[in-house]
Parts: sequence; structure tokens; C-alpha cells
Amino acid sequence: MKILISNDDGYLSPGIAALARVAAEFGEVVVVAPDRDRSGASNSLTLDRPLTVRTAPGGFRYVNGTPTDCVHLAITGLLGFRPDLVLSGINDGANMGDDTIYSGTVAAAMEGYQLGVPAIAFSLARRGFEQLELAAGVARRVVQAFVAQPFPEPVLLNVNIPGRPAAEGPVLQLTRLGKRHFAEPIIRATNPRDEPIWWIGPAGAAKDAGPGTDFHAVDTGHVSITPLNIDLTGYRQMDRVGAWLAQA
Ligand code: MN
Repeated sequence: MKILISNDDGYLSPGIAALARVAAEFGEVVVVAPDRDRSGASNSLTLDRPLTVRTAPGGFRYVNGTPTDCVHLAITGLLGFRPDLVLSGINDGANMGDDTIYSGTVAAAMEGYQLGVPAIAFSLARRGFEQLELAAGVARRVVQAFVAQPFPEPVLLNVNIPGRPAAEGPVLQLTRLGKRHFAEPIIRATNPRDEPIWWIGPAGAAKDAGPGTDFHAVDTGHVSITPLNIDLTGYRQMDRVGAWLAQA
């Protein structure tokens, strides 16, 4: 099995090194990742300049682009072969609920899936990688399950690993995305030339976080596994918009 690995924290992140070690137990691994932290890059492609791919001493390839650039480049010609699986992460921090639309970790996996390759994004909910070994163990369980029982059609899985696992050990739970409150306000500061500058504020707290959601699984010490779609069609609004159009 050929496994392509990327992330959004950059090729030097301990999280991607751990994921590459785990993946190597299951097949041939190639890493193509951003040259620096591109967290929050979502599904962006770099179209206004060319991209450069360099190889680090350990063999990881790094790109002056986004997570999506990395996976796109790898699958559409850089590798010269088609991977059987794309893995992204292990991210430093959760990607649950609304985070998934901004996440570069999810986007790297999504680009694989968009190009027809099964893909799994891994995020460790507590930042700082204190629980990286636990997270690597979870990644091993999930990849093992994928290898033992491959899906007939490609899937895109978003995996979030609890920073504080349940005492009896974390269970792999099927979840749906929860929802956060609106983001905190931007933070205004002043640069040395007295001009205003702005930091994007933190994400909102979890709001829709009841049983069955990714937030709930992780809060209770379990591993959240959410299958994701790319189709953004608002199916629940089709009737309402149809009725509105009939009156237009
Ligand atoms: Mn990140």
C-alpha cells in the first residue's frame, strides 16, 4: 500500500513525524507537507506563483504552499503514482464542528478525497503534543481498521483524539459535526508606526455539543470519527428556495 501524508502545521511538526512512523507499519510512505505552519489555510490553492518542492534530510518533501497545494501536487504528477490512502496530521489542536471549514488538516485529506483517494484527517484535541503517543496509537488503530476492511468507495474521515482519554481507554465513536458559537471578536492592536493591526479572534465555544457530536465524544474522553462530504448543496433548503423562486 502507498500512503501519502501531509498536514497543515508544516513538515517539521512532531505530529507529522509520528503519523509517518505509524503509516510506515502499513506500507510505503511519502510525505509532502507545507514548509511552515499553514493552519487555517482551508482548501486554498496557490495560483499566483509557482511552487517549489524541496527534500529534507529525513526524506520529507516540503512545499512553499498550502496543505491543499501539497496533496494536489503529489497526486496530480509529482509522485508519478497514485497513493492508496491519504493521511493528514496529526494536527496540534482539535478540528471539530465549524473548525472543519477553516482547517488545513481537514483540507489536505479533503484534497485526496476530491481526487478520488480515501483520506483520513487526524487531530489531537489538546494542543502541545503531550499526548502524541496516545494519538499515534489511535492513528494506528484507525489505519489498521482501514487496511483490514477497506471501504468499497473512497471515504473522507475526520478523526479527533481526546487530550484526556477515558479511564477505560478511548473508544472509537461514530459522530456528526457539532457547531460552535460565533467566533470571538477580532483583536485590535497598534504597530510601531501607530497604524491599527488586527488579529483574527479565537473560535467560539462549542454550542451544539450533545451526544452524537464530535465535541461530545472528545469531551468524554473518546475518539470522534466523522465521515465528511464535499457536496455543499443545502438540501434542507431546496423546498423553501424552490417555493421562493416560484414567487419570484
Ligand atoms: Mn494546524
